[in-house]
Amino acid sequence: MFLNNAIHQYIKEAGLNPLSKIGSELVRQGLTSRPLHHSKRKVILLVIQENYQLAIHYKNAFKLEDVNCSCGQKKPCEHIFGGLFYLLESEDADLVETFEIPAAFGNVLLTNEDGAYEVLPTFALDDYRKLEIKDSESYTEFLNVYKPPFLRNFTSFTLAKIVLKEDNHLVGILSEKNYFQDDVTGKFHTVDIQKDISGFSIKCNTCHEKSFSVCIHQFEVLKSQDIKSILLFGNMPDYQEELLLWSKKLDIQISKFKHLYELVLDGQVTNVLLVNHNFYTQNRLSKLRQNIESELFAPNDSSLLEDQDETDGSFGNAILWSSDHNGDVANLIKGKMDKLGSEFHSKIESVLSPEYLPSHEKTLWYQLERFIRESSKENKILKDKSWNRFLQNKVDTINQLTHYVITSKVDFLLISKRNIKRINFSSHFVDLVVSVEQNESFYTSRLKLKINDKEIEPKEHNILLMPYFLVIQNDAYIFKHPEIGRLISMLGWDEIIVDTDHSAQFTSFLFSLYNIVEVQFPNEIKPDTVTLENPHWKIKIREKGNYLVFTPMLEYGEQLEVKLPVDKWLFTKKNDQNIYTIPEEDIDKFTRFFLEQHEQFEYNLFNHGSFFLHYKDYLYENWFLQFFEKCRDYGISIFGLEELENYKMNTYKPSIKMGLSSGIDWFNVDVDISYGDQAVPAKVWLEAMKSNEKYILLGDGSLGLIPDEWFHSLKRLSLVAYEEKGVIKLNKFHFNIVESLFDDVNDDELHKAIKEK
Ligand SMILES: [Zn+2]
Ligand SMILES: [Zn+2]
Repeated sequence: MFLNNAIHQYIKEAGLNPLSKIGSELVRQGLTSRPLHHSKRKVILLVIQENYQLAIHYKNAFKLEDVNCSCGQKKPCEHIFGGLFYLLESEDADLVETFEIPAAFGNVLLTNEDGAYEVLPTFALDDYRKLEIKDSESYTEFLNVYKPPFLRNFTSFTLAKIVLKEDNHLVGILSEKNYFQDDVTGKFHTVDIQKDISGFSIKCNTCHEKSFSVCIHQFEVLKSQDIKSILLFGNMPDYQEELLLWSKKLDIQISKFKHLYELVLDGQVTNVLLVNHNFYTQNRLSKLRQNIESELFAPNDSSLLEDQDETDGSFGNAILWSSDHNGDVANLIKGKMDKLGSEFHSKIESVLSPEYLPSHEKTLWYQLERFIRESSKENKILKDKSWNRFLQNKVDTINQLTHYVITSKVDFLLISKRNIKRINFSSHFVDLVVSVEQNESFYTSRLKLKINDKEIEPKEHNILLMPYFLVIQNDAYIFKHPEIGRLISMLGWDEIIVDTDHSAQFTSFLFSLYNIVEVQFPNEIKPDTVTLENPHWKIKIREKGNYLVFTPMLEYGEQLEVKLPVDKWLFTKKNDQNIYTIPEEDIDKFTRFFLEQHEQFEYNLFNHGSFFLHYKDYLYENWFLQFFEKCRDYGISIFGLEELENYKMNTYKPSIKMGLSSGIDWFNVDVDISYGDQAVPAKVWLEAMKSNEKYILLGDGSLGLIPDEWFHSLKRLSLVAYEEKGVIKLNKFHFNIVESLFDDVNDDELHKAIKEK
């Protein structure tokens, strides 16, 4: 047929694929429909195995545009192969020319801009969609036409129950099942069916896209016989009636019934299900009491009366740290203190306002609260980093607040003294060591903790891992490095055992750990690391909108530059087998230098993980001049200044010298202005002064700043002086103003010269 070249090309590009075999089997078994051809849309449509719609779009006789199958598997699937093989065996005359595209192909057709075919109506799956059903036949037809495309995603759904809700609406609850585990996943999906005067409508609470067909969940619910009979005959049970009936039957008040039970459809009748499993009927309760009495020998033991309000203690506030990375890391709680006033005893709950904190501690809480809010917007990695810096910085003051951690997975509403634990932050940070041992067959690696230079075996302690610190007994240790928490949760405390035959993979695994924490290698695979020394400090500056971004770099020899802040500690050089590392103090020293230069650096590093300043801060009170002078003192090389566009400041303070000499009726005023090696011609600065500019455009394209003390004097001078052949002249007529001209300027020589004239 006419597309043979294009099809061969497509199959060739797909490469060797075992599914092509299944494809030819489909053709052999005659499981392909007769192809439709829409020549205007350049598409051939086929149905494979009665179930899968295939759309073969082509560009020309030598190139297919795209091939789509409704099975949803990775392309090319067996159906695509089947369809293409079938076409290769067909003649052009076998194609059925069509001018309409059947609705069932809506999901596989490429959308086109010119709208050359009928656009199918789509419905938002999470919005009520009207069900156009009159009789059993139209019901079946509806399901056939609007059946969802088959997706092989290895989950299936079973309608677990149909719940009757207030306002006479039904909720189908589907449980999710996994093909492989052959078990329920514990996930549930709900589909709502609503009845109003115009009839029934349906929506899904899981799917949110728009679709021509119903979703798999809706389809599963519509397939149910109970639902079908309700939709066809409209015999939906009346919620209020059922409620009355059942509450009477169970002898329970209606409001309580609603709280504990739900009404479910069970065939043609309704039934009740206890949904609140914490509910104890009288019967159940007396059984529980008997159990307690027989199991626990002291029947009136006060431990059973926990959380009873038996103290006269006063209320207090505390911080409750959660182990949940994603939610709020810390929350404010209140509770009634025990008699000693040291721990919460009862009435513990989450609160918003720190009403029991003295004012100083209130401030600490508000700082913490603001930080929680701000950090929650950051991505994972930045969030870990900024929390780590925050806690490390606050370690001296944070214990002024009272802290608890949640010790078990429990909802915030259910916290009691049983599932929280009082902690104090230690001033020591916790570091991680990966200890690796080797015998003839295996490597064994496990984690150890290092606190205050002492190694600690984690298995000997009951360790509670929190997002930004860990707790041993009642002490909380902040992580030394922000990555430690995630690393522990990924590696676990258990040993990792690897076959020594896989040493290459294992060492590269250890190397990535080595970037973050200390690794104790066995001798056989110990890497030769070379510690580099004596870095040269460099700073690269670039503009980003209204900001100037500073990248500090440590340069070790020609081939290795380390940008700050660092996140990896191991480096390689080009054409060099060695692994290099750098001393932590090199980084600390340069970072400290930066933080001392502008308070904004600390804030920005802290909150955004890089060094930058707003241009206003850069220019304010000529901060940049002092900064660059400091850099020159420290021998730091600066890069990127030439490429700045808007804030290309000359980094030198100007040197300005003045002298006077007199002629018959004029003075020569010699003003020498220079910035580093850039001298300023008289004409240039005179013009700048006349137009009231504080910056002078220098020969190298940078802007030289005129300091305030000189600006006013030079400005006044520019108004009375004139330039002649590069010399500035002043009429003797103006002599009396000369003296007052330079009042602002601190230059004894100059004042003396003026006096002498
Ligand atoms: Zn397919
Ligand atoms: Zn759905």
